[in-house]
Amino acid sequence: MSLSDCPKCWDTPCTCGYQYWFMTLDRLEQVAKTARKALADRRGGRRPPADVREELERQKANAEAAKRMTSEDWHRTIEIPAAQLMTAIEEDARMRAPVSHALLDAYATRERKGG
Ligand SMILES: [Zn+2]
Repeated sequence: MSLSDCPKCWDTPCTCGYQYWFMTLDRLEQVAKTARKALADRRGGRRPPADVREELERQKANAEAAKRMTSEDWHRTIEIPAAQLMTAIEEDARMRAPVSHALLDAYATRERKGG
């Protein structure tokens, strides 16, 4: 089981602890070590690497563009019903997840249903 899309909390990576029960102790220690290092880097004010800075800029630009889109824009963009998209976006807002997550989930649901 990966660290994405926890079926209990839907957080990425899991923040409720459910997914960690499926890891070996070695893997869990590796994940904890990586998280502790990331936390120390962030708290220490370490500047993100170039590729991370580029991705942060890209995500910021996408988020700004997404704010200007209407539900009909979204509908035209990924061709799923606007009402379904709005439900997903509202759910993401409730869970404080990025809107892109809602779009991907909505798109995946559409694909599974063969729509
Ligand atoms: Zn979880």
